[in-house]
Amino acid sequence: MRGAVMYGPGDVRVEEREEPRLVEATDAIIRVSAACVCGSDLWPYRGVEKLGWPVPMGHEYVGIVEEVGAEVETIKPGQFVVGSFWGSDNTCEICRAGYQSACVNRVAMGSLGAQAERLRIPFADGTLVATPEIPPNDLIPSLLAASDVLGTGWFGAVAAEAGPGKTVAVVGDGAVGLLAVLAAKQLGAERVIAMSRRVIAMSRHESRQRLAREFGATEIVEERGDDGVERIKELTDGLGAHSVVEAVGTQESMLQAIHATQPGGHVGFVGVAHSVELPAMDLFWGLVHLHGGPAPVRRFLPELVELIWNRQIDPGKVFDLELPLDDAAAGYEAMDERRAIKALLRP
Ligand SMILES: [Zn+2]
Repeated sequence: MRGAVMYGPGDVRVEEREEPRLVEATDAIIRVSAACVCGSDLWPYRGVEKLGWPVPMGHEYVGIVEEVGAEVETIKPGQFVVGSFWGSDNTCEICRAGYQSACVNRVAMGSLGAQAERLRIPFADGTLVATPEIPPNDLIPSLLAASDVLGTGWFGAVAAEAGPGKTVAVVGDGAVGLLAVLAAKQLGAERVIAMSRRVIAMSRHESRQRLAREFGATEIVEERGDDGVERIKELTDGLGAHSVVEAVGTQESMLQAIHATQPGGHVGFVGVAHSVELPAMDLFWGLVHLHGGPAPVRRFLPELVELIWNRQIDPGKVFDLELPLDDAAAGYEAMDERRAIKALLRP
């Protein structure tokens, strides 16, 4: 089968890879309908993160189940499925608490390489959520978004306690940040009529700003760092936002998020932190709650799939480039140069 493999920074090739096979009785094999390039794939692409090259790439996927192991009970061949970027049993104590991304048996789907024609899914019953039927083609991008970027943005918003009456600021205008805007809006509108709730997206790019507004942003702050913090304070009577989602993972963005949060407020951080060191005095005097990490997407998947299936949300809009799998390298390049927000790959 064909699959994307990274050989080093800036070097992605699509080549013949070994066909995946059932290894455990709890596995499934899916035919990948669509996969994509993640912002986190850009860290090794840019040489910031060293991997043991060459490595298969990709951890976001939707597809059709071809085969299941003897112990798989709920997932059936022929179903269309969405799964998280962590394989998880969904039965251990950590999973039952809603933290499937820290499952005691978790498997990083990235290690199996989802940018490929076929994919082995560990713990199929725990990892996958089936759609009610085979989806129409136009729903596939949104369902694929649920696999990571939507689920991650959603977790960021939940961790930041976005909700009715809250002013939510989102740091980062990548796909995750944009979908955290969507999540923040949904989390409020879902419960009560919004009061003075405001969603502020921090963005420098016009097409991203347009999408942020479409997803529910009421204001755009263009400044970064301390200036960005100042702007948020100006917009919030000098207090800071109740909820801030951090969706970048740098020193500047983390401090921006913490400093833009009002005392007693919540920071949900979902950008993969690289070389970030937080000054303890800032944390001490900030009086903010910090919660984040690799998103337990599986916790939210049933709800997200339903919202997408009923066309209540359209997170697939973050894909502004679609390529055949064989052109995966062009997708990495476009995202690296910020010409594309997110590239969808069709095997
Ligand atoms: Zn578990």
